[in-house]
Amino acid sequence: PATERAPAVVIGSGYGAAVAALRLGQAGIRTVVLEMGRLWDTPGPDGKLFCPTIRPDRRSMWFRTRTEAPLASFLWLDVVNRRIDPYPGVLDRVDHGDMSVYVGRGVGGGSLVNGGMAVTPPRDYFSEVLPQVDAEGMYGTFFPRARRMLGVNDIDPAWFESTEWYRYSRVSRAHAHRAGLDTVFVPNVYDFDHMRREASGQAPKSALAGEVLYGNNHGKRSVDKTYLAAAVATGNVTIETMSRARAIHRGREGYVLTVDRSDLDGKVIETKEIACTRLFLGAGSLGTTELLLRARETGALPELDAEVGRGWGNNGNVMTARANHLWDTVGAHQSTMPVMGINDWNNPANPVFAEIAPLPMGLEHWISLYLAITKNPERGHFTYDPATDSARLNWHRSQSEPSVRAAKSLFDRINRVNGTVYRHDLFGGNRAFADDFTYHPLGGCVLGRATDGYGRAKGHPGLYVVDGSLVPGSIGVNPFVTITALAERNMERIIQQDIAAA
Ligand code: FAD
Repeated sequence: PATERAPAVVIGSGYGAAVAALRLGQAGIRTVVLEMGRLWDTPGPDGKLFCPTIRPDRRSMWFRTRTEAPLASFLWLDVVNRRIDPYPGVLDRVDHGDMSVYVGRGVGGGSLVNGGMAVTPPRDYFSEVLPQVDAEGMYGTFFPRARRMLGVNDIDPAWFESTEWYRYSRVSRAHAHRAGLDTVFVPNVYDFDHMRREASGQAPKSALAGEVLYGNNHGKRSVDKTYLAAAVATGNVTIETMSRARAIHRGREGYVLTVDRSDLDGKVIETKEIACTRLFLGAGSLGTTELLLRARETGALPELDAEVGRGWGNNGNVMTARANHLWDTVGAHQSTMPVMGINDWNNPANPVFAEIAPLPMGLEHWISLYLAITKNPERGHFTYDPATDSARLNWHRSQSEPSVRAAKSLFDRINRVNGTVYRHDLFGGNRAFADDFTYHPLGGCVLGRATDGYGRAKGHPGLYVVDGSLVPGSIGVNPFVTITALAERNMERIIQQDIAAA
């Protein structure tokens, strides 16, 4: 295949990749961004970019014949998932035996599908997880920069107290307070002014129309609208969509990528090579780790460190749900953007930060849903499977037990004082705790182990990791603000030392 050339290539277009693209573009470096998903800019037959969560169509999931929503059932009935036509939809679920990982696909990566919760981790836990990173610089400069660039904003507390759309959060808050637990407001990248106009009928509904998981048609500041738009506006950055980086080899100077470009049926219509001087990996924890592991194990990049493929964690994610009393209605109207968490992170025995999650079904169901983030010390590792040319995550069900134990201890407390019980009909298998999937894959190419202290891959100059694979498996809160701020810190150093100086 013909070889194209670019000074810099960024693989992926999620948080870390978007920061890299913008800062390279501003530094005057011509940069190509490769994204395996599509650009979400063309409305479907219904006039909308994204499909509704409760009536999913082919736009919902990545080449599936049936949707695979995290809540498999309701009253043990399989009413949630639907048959769909295969298409490069926006949400993917990558199955690795006992652990399934939800990821976003498309220009913007996870920012297209996620709940927008923009949480800065407690400083002492950040320093425990990443002791080699200067916390002063992070909390003084890079976290504020990331929040500003991402468009983080806060809900007006007075509106929160009065609107029907957050009744579900207020009910969960009251139940937590009765158990002596603290709750905190959580910032979001969803535009709360837009949400209020949705509520008053002055703007088209998105968060108030049940939209999340399969994309938001309005209100959400995903990175295609923030960092990536600014990157393209520098005139130095171009984004190639439906383009999957398959292999990395060493080039005469720098690296050569093998890239498959597909059509919307998933058929590869072109395979090409792109040579670059500098290569930035932002394909997410799973994507980046697979690319580097494959390169090391096939002998293409043999100097990569033995730590590539190690140190993976699910941020201690567990989902659970409680059944409320009939008089404790949670409301048929629920905003899909979570704005509150139960903060018991300083509990020495069972640290938990639990997001009060929506369950927007358009009817009263008396369910309180939570995504608990726990401090689980278990780590998984990846192995390369030559037969399928892919990375397999080794994670055993028993490794989720510490997460379930911690979550159970917190919600047992809430259930006890409120006289309530768990729901067993939502996650399949008659379970109260869903510990077999995660929204927060972290690690695989950990900072300071597989890379140096700024994300430079060990053994291969000009090769950089910029995404969630740098974070060693846990960060205690929803991770994208940390991923973004860390990318800001690392890119500033890389541009100063490796690029401007050269
Ligand atoms: P990603 O955002 O995963 O981006 C990687 C990109 O690379 C993707 O677009 C992918 O298609 C592309 N790619 C992968 N491999 C290749 C390849 N070989 N070639 C080309 N392209 C490739 N976090 C929060 O902080 N708050 C929340 O409220 C929140 N809610 C979430 C809800 C859901 C349903 C999910 C799935 C996640 C949620 N998260 C949340 C997690 C957050 O979205 C992720 O932590 C974040 O997106 C990870 O950023 P990243 O830069 O590591 O990579």
